[in-house]
Amino acid sequence: MKEFSFQTRQENIKKMQNENFDLLIIGGGITGAGVARDAAMRGLKVALVEANDFAFGTSSRSSKLVHGGIRYLENYEFHLVFEALSERAKLFEIAPHLVHPLRFMIPLFENSRVGPFLMGLGMILYDALAVFQTPEMHEKLNKIETLNRMPIVRGSDLVGSFIYSDGYMDDDRLVHETLRSANDSGATAVNYVEVVKANYSMNKISSVQVRDKNSQKVFDIKCAHVISTVGPWTDLVGEKLVSDWKKILRPTKGVHLTLHKDRLNLSSAVVMAAQKSSRIVFAIPRHEMIIIGTTDTDFQEAPETATVTADDIAYLLRVTNEYFPGAKLTEEDILSTYVGVRPLVKDGSDVEGKTSREHTIMSDPRGLTFVAGGKYTTYRLMSEQIVDRALKSFPIEKRLGLNRCDTNRPLNNWTTPDSYEQAVYEAKNEKEEFLASRYGMEAYKIIEENDDDLSVWQLEAIQSIRNTMCLNLVDFYVRRVPLMLGYRNHGLQFLDEIVEIFRSELDWSDNETRSQLEALKKFVKEESDWRLKK
Ligand SMILES: Cc1cc2nc3c(=O)[nH]c(=O)nc-3n(C[C@H](O)[C@H](O)[C@H](O)COP(=O)(O)OP(=O)(O)OC[C@H]3O[C@@H](n4cnc5c(N)ncnc54)[C@H](O)[C@@H]3O)c2cc1C
Repeated sequence: MKEFSFQTRQENIKKMQNENFDLLIIGGGITGAGVARDAAMRGLKVALVEANDFAFGTSSRSSKLVHGGIRYLENYEFHLVFEALSERAKLFEIAPHLVHPLRFMIPLFENSRVGPFLMGLGMILYDALAVFQTPEMHEKLNKIETLNRMPIVRGSDLVGSFIYSDGYMDDDRLVHETLRSANDSGATAVNYVEVVKANYSMNKISSVQVRDKNSQKVFDIKCAHVISTVGPWTDLVGEKLVSDWKKILRPTKGVHLTLHKDRLNLSSAVVMAAQKSSRIVFAIPRHEMIIIGTTDTDFQEAPETATVTADDIAYLLRVTNEYFPGAKLTEEDILSTYVGVRPLVKDGSDVEGKTSREHTIMSDPRGLTFVAGGKYTTYRLMSEQIVDRALKSFPIEKRLGLNRCDTNRPLNNWTTPDSYEQAVYEAKNEKEEFLASRYGMEAYKIIEENDDDLSVWQLEAIQSIRNTMCLNLVDFYVRRVPLMLGYRNHGLQFLDEIVEIFRSELDWSDNETRSQLEALKKFVKEESDWRLKK
């Protein structure tokens, strides 16, 4: 695959200043990345600008589940569940190195809000909506079987449980791999370039003014059509683009925390119901860590200002301790936390958790398309629908010359489902095992192209810099590798070896290195600020 690095960024910024684009996509989360890939594969000339790091927004702060959303059955959102389950099946195929099947347990207690009969019906419906192509069909376990399978779950008033299948993913890496694929198909994407305003000619969009946050340079990108995929920033960016913007979002905040797996040894993910509410909280095992989340509370401020509060943490710990009383989890057990804002569209619901996760696509006759809402799981389909909608504003001659949507192909040429299995099977040592599980066959290319004595984190740093446009240490720790979330001390023990690579690859001076280290330390400190704000 083609390089997608700092060097690519420099070249792409030049192109953006000098060329005309069919489409300018604003926002490099999963929606923008998916639209860029789809449109570029169809043959459109595409530019994408992201104001921060790619996947900086909601797309790196999700529960990291590729799921039909079993709880949406309660809201009778069958269409949403069916669509998501069918997309889940496609994601297993197109990104086998990023999306993996996972079993989920729903323990049932004497006073559970949904009893065994209704839950059983829900399970049958869930498997049926997946057209029985689920990785494994659901099972019903009695109390003893449940405790055999998950000895640490509360036994006192346990009745039994249901087990079903869904998937988990590396959300941030799914964005990067989708963008790499878009880059391969000719899309021109850059990070740290922010949209400032739109320019019109004869009441049609003609260009968008942007600011390169690295050089502070302001320039215009000429384009025939703009697609805004800025998730929870939709109202803020909408106001910059059109003077008569009407707010459409009802954003909600979602907090997660992570634990080391030693503190909660789960044999599968667990779906936990918060007492006396329809909210559910997941406990999700992922390699060395367990992710617990999420909260769901209205949030009206700028998305980047969302913070974790001591109340959010107390709520998640309380629910988890109710299900696993023997674990006696406390704040001391928390490795890390993260917070995201859901770009939900107002639908008049009285309760946050009931606001629909369906997406909305809006066309503006001045040559703009706005997208909001939706789920990670359905990003591929959503992108297809967005490009179809945007194309309606293009002349018929232009449309006739384009290819059809072809995004069911693997994101990464190195990694098909078969070659992924082979890559994992062939791994001969720890380094190969780790990298093959994350990159499939590309792992061997990464190893071959670099010195034998480099550690896995150094190889990860090289890969991130050369192929995901990673520009700094915070972005590496937070959105390229699981160090910030999953490792004790956030993996800072590997900092020296990682910095060595960044210095040589990006030619950092002593001053630059110092300010990068300070930025990382500041980030780590702020990440645990909730502990001080009690
Ligand atoms: C707590 C939580 C848990 C979730 N869990 C799941 C889950 O498990 N499974 C699932 O399917 N879905 C889940 N979702 C939903 C899913 O994560 C989101 O729907 C999805 O990530 C939205 O992606 P996006 O690209 O639309 O927005 P974002 O990822 O937020 O991307 C928008 C981007 O726009 C950029 N931007 C903003 N302003 C500008 C500007 N002026 N110029 C240029 N760029 C700009 C931002 O920096 C940002 O990177 C969850 C959401 C939350 C909040």
